[in-house]
Amino acid sequence: MSELLTLPANELARRMQAGEVRATEVAEAHLDRIAAVDGDPAAPGDRDVHAFLAVTRESALAQAADVDARRDRGEALGPLAGVPLALKDIFTMRGAPTTVGSRILEGWHPPYDATVTSRCIEAGLVILGKTNMDEFAMGSSTENSAFGPTRNPWDLDRVPGGSSGGSAAAVAGLMAPLALGTDTGGSIRQPAALTGLVGAKPTYGQVSRYGMVAFASSLDQAGPFARTVEDAALLHQVIAGHDPADSTSINEPVPDLLVHLRSGVEGLRIGVVRELQGEGYEPAVEAAFADTLRRFESLGAEIVEVSLPHASYGLPAYYLVAPSECSSNLARFDGVRYGLRVDAPTAEEMNAATRAAGFGPEVKRRIMIGTHALSSGYFDAYYLQASKVRTLIARDFAAAFEQADVLVSPTSPSVAFGLGTKTADPLAMYLNDVATVPASLAGVPAVSVPNGTSDEGLPTGVQVMAPLLRDDLMYRVAWALEQDLGFDPIPHGPNAVAASAEGAR
Ligand code: GLN
Repeated sequence: MSELLTLPANELARRMQAGEVRATEVAEAHLDRIAAVDGDPAAPGDRDVHAFLAVTRESALAQAADVDARRDRGEALGPLAGVPLALKDIFTMRGAPTTVGSRILEGWHPPYDATVTSRCIEAGLVILGKTNMDEFAMGSSTENSAFGPTRNPWDLDRVPGGSSGGSAAAVAGLMAPLALGTDTGGSIRQPAALTGLVGAKPTYGQVSRYGMVAFASSLDQAGPFARTVEDAALLHQVIAGHDPADSTSINEPVPDLLVHLRSGVEGLRIGVVRELQGEGYEPAVEAAFADTLRRFESLGAEIVEVSLPHASYGLPAYYLVAPSECSSNLARFDGVRYGLRVDAPTAEEMNAATRAAGFGPEVKRRIMIGTHALSSGYFDAYYLQASKVRTLIARDFAAAFEQADVLVSPTSPSVAFGLGTKTADPLAMYLNDVATVPASLAGVPAVSVPNGTSDEGLPTGVQVMAPLLRDDLMYRVAWALEQDLGFDPIPHGPNAVAASAEGAR
């Protein structure tokens, strides 16, 4: 196994900076790893991870060569210059398809870069390809992708979580040290927890949504995946910041996420959310969470119990707000402007036939729920009521942050589950999000950091939630746990992806 594949991004960047290794070599090592373990994106086998829907080999090598050339000329480059990155297939990128995991966008080559994409390229990150996802980011297992599921590098018969499962599997499977995902109700945090990674949802509005295909606009937020907290914070810093092209992006300077990273938790009040634990959480998840609290305490933090009294209404509120916004956002996929068109005698029939053929069952379910919740006569009972609950939850958070500096809970009620075990039961799938949706509804930043393993050796995660715009604090707390625990993020176990490229074939 090439050491280049297991090093954290900051160490890789340091070695490139010191001239010990070239960006092109680093890119090639990762592209070889993808070729060895990911399979053919169009026809993955049942031992292939299938993290990528498209590998952009040529442009990746060109970007890496450009970084090397700039370094040779003595140009000052950013802290992540030359580091490979996997991009969720929800961000547009010139020269590559964007499918959002859907047939309806198949064949669409967007003519522009998302703001997040262009910021990464400017920072010298090398984009390896576009990663698999639940169709339109709706799901918690990546099984709703129209292009086949992604497998969890820790156990190839299990899901990597979702919806950003391809990005998580790319990093966990050592195909990239960093990846970007999006999180609407948990789609970065839950897959991070299920694959032993750090994954963060920034404060809503801190990262531009321009060029990010919309699911539920008032909740969608892009964020990083990495194998260390520091790497996640570094990538977060690259993508954050005001963008005039996104009217919801916050017009304020982004706080430095790294200065206080190593300050520890001594004297901090860490709030355990009463409503986000207990019944419904697997014993392994509960045990790891209890261990985490003991660690925080021994590091000098004060553990306090706090309540988010309306958190138990979070899931139903989310599953009205998100589908409502989705039903409106997805109206644009009409067969006229983008991607798929199924011809029919009239425009209306063409529109119906295109949407019937192009959208998968979960997306159709959401569009129907959302359309119903917004329809006259039902709007007050569903959408409006859910919006009020959302306000109550945001107030709960504000009150809880009077008593605690950060809040913690398990990220996901379970470890990675078997492929196919929840696909027949939408409600069982939705329950994955019970601990992650409250922070989404309130807009507050939240990160998942590995906090242990189950008896079968599968990772568990703890979620750290911080007040609005205190993303720095959430990383600081996560970093303290990471240092204390010393979790090994390299997948191992009888059914894990091959540790060496040689062993993969
Ligand atoms: N699992 C949640 C859903 O299906 C969250 C998805 C997300 O965050 N994009 O809506």
